[in-house]
Amino acid sequence: MEDVGEELSKVLESKRLDERYSALMQKVLDDRDVRMFIEAHREQVTDEDIQKSYAKLYEFVQEKKKYQLNDPSMIAPGYEPKLFLNFHYIDVTYVPTETLLKRQAEEQIRSRVRSMNMPKDVREASVGRLDMTSDRSKAIQALLDFIDVYTATPTNFHQGLYLQGSFGVGKTYMLGALANALAERGYRSTLVHFPTFAVEMKQAIGKDTMLEKLETIKKSPILMLDDIGADSMSSWIRDDVLGVILQYRMQEQLPTFFTSNFSMQQLESEHLRVSQRGEEEPLKAKRIMERIRYLSKEIVMVGKNRRNP
Ligand code: ADP
Ligand code: MG
Repeated sequence: MEDVGEELSKVLESKRLDERYSALMQKVLDDRDVRMFIEAHREQVTDEDIQKSYAKLYEFVQEKKKYQLNDPSMIAPGYEPKLFLNFHYIDVTYVPTETLLKRQAEEQIRSRVRSMNMPKDVREASVGRLDMTSDRSKAIQALLDFIDVYTATPTNFHQGLYLQGSFGVGKTYMLGALANALAERGYRSTLVHFPTFAVEMKQAIGKDTMLEKLETIKKSPILMLDDIGADSMSSWIRDDVLGVILQYRMQEQLPTFFTSNFSMQQLESEHLRVSQRGEEEPLKAKRIMERIRYLSKEIVMVGKNRRNP
């Protein structure tokens, strides 16, 4: 008796399962997109083909629901599920959405700008948002000219800019805007906050990481050294770090930009000439300055301090 009862309950259980399955599949077949797809391909698929595709149709309906609700548990976030005919079998494919494609394109552009210890707002800087006040127009014009000539002949040598101006006039922002504009056109650049970089170099003297970093910076297709002269430089930083970078860039004819609170003249006489230990080293200062002058054109930026409007 026992066995029969067990047998019976098994049958009933599997019948219930069958019913649930049928109900589920009916719901899937009632889905508007599924119905339209089957109608459109009615001549290519038999009822049996459709039955064999149930699992995929079910997946489609589930994932479409999640997609519409933007549910994070969806199989492929950013991709829209679509049905397609895979021989005699209905299958699901995941098509990237416009939003995803746009985001991927933006990420690719961003990845062309490597920034080291730069303020965050630099990432958002754009040439379109640089206001053309008369006191800045010279710098903006020079920047636009650079974009023109560089993108026309990227393998030729083009002088960069030495943006000079007081604290807060927007020098760093200007470099960020340039780097982003170049990235949109497919070019890579590196922005380095020079004083921080100098400290990092000192802390890592002789280590592989230091050499690697120096190599990356030295070889960047477009290099922007921000805030040069902001901190006093040791002779080692001046000659073996900055000097080495500039020497390489001259040799390889690679565009290099600078920003500084000081004019080239001041940088030479007040910052590069006297070592941290107070020794006068006019020749060494001159050598560095020659390289900076070769690589860049000095542009004075005046204006209000934008940090405290
Ligand atoms: P600097 O490097 O000359 O000291 P910054 O580039 O850091 O100055 O600019 C100072 C502040 O003004 C920053 O917060 C920056 O985001 C903002 N800023 C500068 N130029 C612009 C601009 N054209 N549009 C919007 N914000 C700007
Ligand atoms: Mg700055």
